[in-house]
Amino acid sequence: MPDFLIATNNAHKVEEFKRILLPLGINVKSAKDAGVDLGDIVEDGSTFAENAKIKALSAFRLSGMPSVADDSGLCVDALGGAPGIYSARYGGEDIPQSQRNALLLSEIKDYADHERSARFVCSICLVFSEDDIITVEGYCEGMIASEPMGEGGFGYDPLFIYKDGRCFGCISGDEKDEISHRGQALRGLRALLINRKDDV
Ligand code: IMP
Repeated sequence: MPDFLIATNNAHKVEEFKRILLPLGINVKSAKDAGVDLGDIVEDGSTFAENAKIKALSAFRLSGMPSVADDSGLCVDALGGAPGIYSARYGGEDIPQSQRNALLLSEIKDYADHERSARFVCSICLVFSEDDIITVEGYCEGMIASEPMGEGGFGYDPLFIYKDGRCFGCISGDEKDEISHRGQALRGLRALLINRKDDV
């Protein structure tokens, strides 16, 4: 299997991709490692899957390498699925994540525990060529905490309580990979790649 370029500047995502794919024999290179300038990719799709494809195709066209991208986010039922595909920009482009988390908590402060259901969604697109494109999706069900918990992970992790009661901010990276939306999607990708190898 050739090296994949991962089409993101998010170091946390690169780390999670490497952590999950390397043990499966798949080597991923960050844009920085591959010396590719991804520029500003306009994510104007209306779904996670559309945005993942926009990013992966753009990286493929820039680099000529098989390119993989992840579009992901947190969907809160009480907020009609927000922040959803706008998770990275929730509350404004240039505010710290702690402020986004505080905003989310304030938006749902009047909701009882049973009304705080949420899920992380991760759509992954892998582009081998213009007409050889694989998309997989992973989900992780849980609820929103009443205050941030733990120092681990990134983004909305300190607010997300998995359905077994563990908060993503309080567990190790390996524990998160076993249950997370990204872990699920990447294992789905791996299964598709294994089948593909058998076909060749
Ligand atoms: P994207 O780069 O447009 O896909 O933005 C995804 C955003 O969703 C990130 O910036 C995070 O705020 C949030 N997000 C996605 N996956 C995770 C995760 O595993 N933990 C916490 N937040 C996440």
